[in-house]
Amino acid sequence: MAIEYSSRVKRIPSYPAASAYAMPEDVAQLASNESPDPPLPQVVEAITRVLGGLNRYPDPTNAVLRGALSGRYGVPAERVAIGNGSCDVLLALGEALLEPGAELVYAWPSFSVYPHLEAASGATGVRVPLAAGDVHDLDAMLEQITVATRMVIVCNPNNPTGTAVSRDRIAAFVQQVPRNVCVLIDEAYCEFNTLDDPDATLDLLERHSNLVLLRTFSKVYGLAGLRIGFALCGSPDPVTAVNQVRQPFFCNAAAQAAAVEALRHQDAVAERVERAVLARVELEDGLGELGIEPMLSQANFTWFELPRRDGETTEETEQRVLAGLAAAGVLVRSGAALGRAGWLRVSFGTQGQNARFLAVLRDLV
Ligand SMILES: *Cc1c(COP(=O)(O)O)cnc(C)c1O
Repeated sequence: MAIEYSSRVKRIPSYPAASAYAMPEDVAQLASNESPDPPLPQVVEAITRVLGGLNRYPDPTNAVLRGALSGRYGVPAERVAIGNGSCDVLLALGEALLEPGAELVYAWPSFSVYPHLEAASGATGVRVPLAAGDVHDLDAMLEQITVATRMVIVCNPNNPTGTAVSRDRIAAFVQQVPRNVCVLIDEAYCEFNTLDDPDATLDLLERHSNLVLLRTFSKVYGLAGLRIGFALCGSPDPVTAVNQVRQPFFCNAAAQAAAVEALRHQDAVAERVERAVLARVELEDGLGELGIEPMLSQANFTWFELPRRDGETTEETEQRVLAGLAAAGVLVRSGAALGRAGWLRVSFGTQGQNARFLAVLRDLV
């Protein structure tokens, strides 16, 4: 007889993993919004320096990193939470806030990890459809807040659509959410946003103790493989709560050291953003030539609907194009896996990878 798992495990969806991990070297990995650039040599050196001390547990208080983040963002260290990836903070916050009878509000399509929060906790997830242009419908989200709501998530810029709402609209939204409801703004891609200063939301933390800004080292900092992220909070309470529900050593020593070093190289961050913006323009132009109009991206990826051939269903189009791209060594993310069949999400790669993607796509549409 097979062992029996909890009902909670049966509810939790499996994360759709990109299947590049056993493929040849020259595959263009454009499926996970990672940085195409390897970590900086100084970051690799910082990691190498800690390796000789791996007989010791890492600092459970993440003191050096929290101090560095506090210095960089002007948020007191007691209001900075660290995680084994920002998803670790996200899931821990869900565990700390949610339970059966509680409600969680977020937009859809949005980040594929959010549905885990309701499944893991037994809370009710309320998904609010994106408005025209695939932007967050913040007014509709406000309408869904009830006395049972514990948490509201706004992914800005949104994954998978790449669209962003302005800092002023976020400010007006947070102002209207009851103070007992946690507002989490997932800013994994904020550095790539050219509409607003990436740090424009920081001052909201001084006015809203219920606000949490989620950030990561996985995207522009290029440290996805180490697993490290953080949250800047309006009060120390979320930091205490996420630490209560996790194991003490949730963040490894190499990740802490790498993040501290990566923060020192903001010039490299600016360069990467510049290259991503160039890639955005190149890809948008290239897609335009194929008659495809992608959504307005403020992130390091593009989201668009595939033109259908006569007699094909949206699913068939998507499967044919995904298979064609994969056969040519180009991996992108299926829209069906992200809540909308017939669409694709394509991360910006190197110039060569982007050109290759466009060339292969040209033959498929
Ligand atoms: C990539 C991504 C993250 C980052 O997750 P990590 O666990 O830090 O790697 C968070 N939120 C969104 C919306 C993302 O797309």
